[in-house]
Amino acid sequence: MPPNFAEAKAKLSHLDMEENPATIRNKSRDFFWYSPVLKDAMDHLEADFVINAKSEDEIIEILKVCYAHDVPVTMRGGGTGNYGQAMPLAGGCVIHVAKMNKIKEIGAGFVVVEPGAVIKELDDELKEKSGQELRMFPSTYSQATIGGFIAGGSGGVGSANWGALRDLGNIKRLRVVTMEAEPRVLEFTGEELHRVSHAYGTNGIITELELPLAPAYEWIEVFVRFDTFRTATEFAGAITAEPGVLIKLASVYAAPIAHSYFQRVKPHVTESDHLVGLIVAPHNIDGFLTLLERFKDGDVIYRSDAVTWDRHPGPIYEFGWNHTTLRAMKFNKGLTYLQVRYVGGLEKVMEAYEAFEGKLHMHLELMREGDGIAFAGLPIVQPMNKDELDQLVADHEAMDCMIFNPHRYTLEEGGRQSADERQLAFKRESDPKGLLNPGKMIAWDEPDFDYADMYSYKNTRPKPEA
Ligand code: FAD
Repeated sequence: MPPNFAEAKAKLSHLDMEENPATIRNKSRDFFWYSPVLKDAMDHLEADFVINAKSEDEIIEILKVCYAHDVPVTMRGGGTGNYGQAMPLAGGCVIHVAKMNKIKEIGAGFVVVEPGAVIKELDDELKEKSGQELRMFPSTYSQATIGGFIAGGSGGVGSANWGALRDLGNIKRLRVVTMEAEPRVLEFTGEELHRVSHAYGTNGIITELELPLAPAYEWIEVFVRFDTFRTATEFAGAITAEPGVLIKLASVYAAPIAHSYFQRVKPHVTESDHLVGLIVAPHNIDGFLTLLERFKDGDVIYRSDAVTWDRHPGPIYEFGWNHTTLRAMKFNKGLTYLQVRYVGGLEKVMEAYEAFEGKLHMHLELMREGDGIAFAGLPIVQPMNKDELDQLVADHEAMDCMIFNPHRYTLEEGGRQSADERQLAFKRESDPKGLLNPGKMIAWDEPDFDYADMYSYKNTRPKPEA
């Protein structure tokens, strides 16, 4: 049946519905514009109506009405996703969960929280009330919600110690509402978590989360300058791998990123300096300094516990992860980026550094992975059109680098270029009409899709005539 937007809207009009067209447009948009390809494909998209949900009961009511009237539903937390995750491809209803932000329980090593809690606000309260903190957060800490992070993110500050969100133990429990005639409320733990974590809200709505916590410290933030990219990368890898030195962040910025794009760092570096940004536990600063002495060309140029700079740089996490790209784009809107995994460690990173010289500036984020470490990359890419970007992706893949393509809006293309059978199987039972964030899971719409092509959702609203 075609969607009946007017009828669904009328039946839900007693809820907190946005009326202002500018607000509806704003709440229909995320950070899709980060990619020139997504900007072109998605800029015109808009929800038919937006509801600010206040409780799980309201979510159930909205889903029931939208199901009955075949209206697509897209969830929205902070709207900071950079893969266009929260963009309503087929219009319909956007549910904004900012008002579902209660912290329900804080215990020894865990928190139970509603999905709309802003991560920084949640973390501040955890520190104040229990001396604990979240294991990891995205660099959009002050805007992103905890539900949006679990549904749309992958890791971030903290991953240098705790690995990725999908790693065992980093999520304890998720409560999920299904999109059926009579929505069900399910509780997932263990292997079941993978059904809905990082599923872009395509197969269930998260209404409560239980997450593990770590002890909170007065972390020390540090910038270290290096003469060579190799030594900077070696050092960042070594400190991440050092079992007795607790860190939360190890980012590597190849020259000239720090000089060209980090305004408050610029007076302290030259164009040829490579920079490492670190967040170190206060009780391990000696371990960090001892390790650094083994690397002859590294100098500490900034410590947050002994600031000597005239202008404070601000929190170091806002230089790392995708904030590096954001800072570069402030200087040149045409710059773009990739998300890469350098399978093969340091030598693969060095091979890519040399192969792509002139096309991109290397930016690495170190993560714990299995029994070792992983080099993730968010290189800053020179202005390019779609075909050139596709070629750059193909060149990386030819070198066995894994690309999580940020110039695509589907789960599969932005992920491992293959269908996630667990997510698909759950979607079949939880969303039989395919109304949750339609167009984002290729396997649902086109099981035989060839990942060499770019997927284009057939029901994406057409662009208005120019
Ligand atoms: P939204 O963008 O609102 O939503 C993300 C996805 O989750 C959407 O598909 C949405 O439909 C779905 N969703 C939201 N709420 C629910 C719910 N309750 N139930 C089901 N589905 C839901 N990501 C990282 O992982 N690590 C980083 O370090 C990082 N750094 C970033 C830096 C910048 C500058 C930018 C622009 C983005 C960055 N991101 C990063 C991406 C993004 O900010 C994070 O993933 C963030 O956690 C998303 O949270 P949000 O509340 O903004 O989610």
